[in-house]
Amino acid sequence: MTSNQLVAGPEAALPTLRGAVAGLPSYVPGRRGAGVDVAALASNESHYDPLPAAVTAVAEAAGRMNRYPDMAAVELRERLARHLGVSAAEVAVGPGSVGVLQQIITGLCDAGDEVVFAWRSFEAYPILVELAGARPVRIQLDDTEGHDLEAMAAAVTDRTRVILLCTPNNPTGVPISHDRIEAFLQTVPSSVLVVIDEAYVEYADAGSGPDSLALYRRYPNVGILRTFSKAYGLAGLRVGYAVAAPAIAEGLRRTALPFSVSALAQKAAIASLDAGEEMEARVAAVKQERVRMAAQLEAQGWKLQPSHGNFLWIRTAEDLRARLVDAFDAAGILVRAYQGDGVRITVADPASNDRVLRLLAAHAA
Ligand code: PMP
Repeated sequence: MTSNQLVAGPEAALPTLRGAVAGLPSYVPGRRGAGVDVAALASNESHYDPLPAAVTAVAEAAGRMNRYPDMAAVELRERLARHLGVSAAEVAVGPGSVGVLQQIITGLCDAGDEVVFAWRSFEAYPILVELAGARPVRIQLDDTEGHDLEAMAAAVTDRTRVILLCTPNNPTGVPISHDRIEAFLQTVPSSVLVVIDEAYVEYADAGSGPDSLALYRRYPNVGILRTFSKAYGLAGLRVGYAVAAPAIAEGLRRTALPFSVSALAQKAAIASLDAGEEMEARVAAVKQERVRMAAQLEAQGWKLQPSHGNFLWIRTAEDLRARLVDAFDAAGILVRAYQGDGVRITVADPASNDRVLRLLAAHAA
């Protein structure tokens, strides 16, 4: 026998995907567009160019891309440890925080284990959980678009291995306060890893969300998830990290796909941390725009919860949502639409934001 064709007729079965994969919802990426008139407000990216120091670091590292990166990312982990006041043993990096989250879920969950998270929240949560053969347990947001921590605590069973808390929550922008998370941690078994996903933490108003590092120090079953993709402007390079108890962080490093964080990403992340003040000035400008937009939208008659991310969330009835999406499409403004729930719009430069405000003015109640 020299080829499949000799043994397999046209009716022969083809390879099949695992059931968990065949049933997966597809990740819906933020829509892309090209052209000067397109405003890309669907993916919560930074609208700024990368920090100049990051571009320089990448240019310098580019000449060595024939080599594998440092698999242990020692220099980056040590720089992060210094930045956060932890040890490098407590830091694990990955290709975006979504990559680190996959390491967390595959590292902790066996088939049939449960992962509890709020819904709506980050689209990738149920996908990563199902991919691992685990069971997503979605707990509806409360009527202020925030996490219903009481319901989340009540959903914990002896199969629960991980709880995901997203603060500020994507897509609603609502943070979870420090005190509420602390009270929650007191009710959750210490064997359950509580991951605080802080992808947008740099944009949150001071004191609105948790002091996650303080919680981590007090509760060793807390893990923190952060990214360079948003405020630091490195979405295209793919680098994020977790802070967790040394044994967990070590497990995450072992779970990682080898060499998944490129040397370019590692160098750019270090340079970006070194340029922290420049990043903060950009974040301040986005927050100012967020306040300006929210005030105008409220004056137009839209009802919003205050957002602490670099985006605004408009919950709408389905017919209005569909009309808004069509109008945004026609205007060349890419936003993220969530069927049945609403629309999320990234806050960007003042000119793009003005386009959003003008469009929404025409559809306000
Ligand atoms: N967590 C949240 C809440 C997010 O919104 C995102 C990106 N949309 C991520 C994690 C992952 O981002 P990245 O993989 O680029 O770090």
